[in-house]
Amino acid sequence: MIDVRDLQFTYPGNRETTLKGLQFGVGRGEIFGFLGPSGAGKSTTQNILIGLLKKYQGLVRVMGTELKGIDGNYYEKIGVAFEVPNFYSKFTALENLDVFRALYSGDTADPRALLEMVGLEKDGDTRISGFSKGMKMRLNFCRAFLNKPEILFLDEPTAGLDPVNARKVKNLIRAERAAGKTVFLTTHNMNVAEEICDRVAFIVEGRIELVDSPRELMVRRGQKKVRVEYREDGIIQEAEFPLKGIGDNRDFSCLLKAKDVERMHTQEATLEDIFIEVTGRSLA
Ligand code: ADP
Ligand code: MG
Repeated sequence: MIDVRDLQFTYPGNRETTLKGLQFGVGRGEIFGFLGPSGAGKSTTQNILIGLLKKYQGLVRVMGTELKGIDGNYYEKIGVAFEVPNFYSKFTALENLDVFRALYSGDTADPRALLEMVGLEKDGDTRISGFSKGMKMRLNFCRAFLNKPEILFLDEPTAGLDPVNARKVKNLIRAERAAGKTVFLTTHNMNVAEEICDRVAFIVEGRIELVDSPRELMVRRGQKKVRVEYREDGIIQEAEFPLKGIGDNRDFSCLLKAKDVERMHTQEATLEDIFIEVTGRSLA
């Protein structure tokens, strides 16, 4: 669905090149995460992929079309949630969705159903000026679905959301994947990347340092051990066992039988650990 080769981009007037030769591909039905600290070039990349920033160097193809040659028809086919929501503040939520819906010539989604999807069904007639930041973010998310796109570009979709709404948004993104849609997701939140992305690209200072599946990365780079916490005479004790041959490990099975086990975890690396190890930078 997305094919990017040697993508370079410099903002007019900037001395430094923002994107320094990006290379990646995204397949149909995939949630692809673009993970990196603030200023890495994530939003710039998204803005190129949605046809907003032109004059790039290299090759950028989305659904088979090189973006240098696109026209307005391209916007009919993609769904976009920008990093910063932009709505008419004197209009209500439903009025705003109707304005954006009218821009599409093809089949569109029911705005009320979209509001319901993100828990804003009671707020359709409220003006945007009365919306909190989190409500605007959720409305912004809905907007990306108006034209029933095959591919979604979501820039920091959970930023500013409370944990309950962040979970809702993550579940909705997963549901899109289940329906065969493709998602390009930009974030500096490693939990989001870890939980929902099939693959992530680590981007730092306009360069991709690595592309891989979060699960594979965490398993491969983690320690192959299981840590057991159990209670003995009211005191919490810890024991570690190698994962290899754990089924035949007698000390391990004796402990499980004899002790009051409270927690048991394999020692995977977190995605943040790996990001720091690979890039030498933290995500903050
Ligand atoms: P991210 O989304 O990863 O936080 P951005 O793509 O927004 O990063 O920004 C990458 C770099 O490009 C930053 O150094 C930023 O200052 C610069 N930049 C972003 N937008 C503009 C712009 N409109 N004009 C000039 N420079 C910009
Ligand atoms: Mg950004």
